[in-house]
Amino acid sequence: MSHAELMNRIAATDSTFARREGMWVGRCLICRGPVCFDALTGEGATVEHILPRSLGGTNDLSNLGIAHRRCNGEKGRRWDPRRRHRAAPDRYAMLLQRLRDERERRWRNVGTGDECAS
Ligand SMILES: [Zn+2]
Repeated sequence: MSHAELMNRIAATDSTFARREGMWVGRCLICRGPVCFDALTGEGATVEHILPRSLGGTNDLSNLGIAHRRCNGEKGRRWDPRRRHRAAPDRYAMLLQRLRDERERRWRNVGTGDECAS
């Protein structure tokens, strides 16, 4: 699966996202502000790993969200490195739990496409 395809699958399972003329428009998982990206290239936003890959996080859709580059970068720098989150493990656990809860709250089941058969 290409990076853009992965972003499309994440947006499809996130109820804050809607397709608008070749773009996906929705809400950043981290700051909840408006965010959009090109459905074809994925440009405009980033894939956020709630539990980072460095800590064993997977590419399972439940562990992924769409985030601003800025928000994703900030989490990646300020929180995900071991020496950082070990200094404040409770706050880090709370941050991850908040993102997991937010992802679950937004979760949208994607149909098989059968309902669109003609
Ligand atoms: Zn954001």
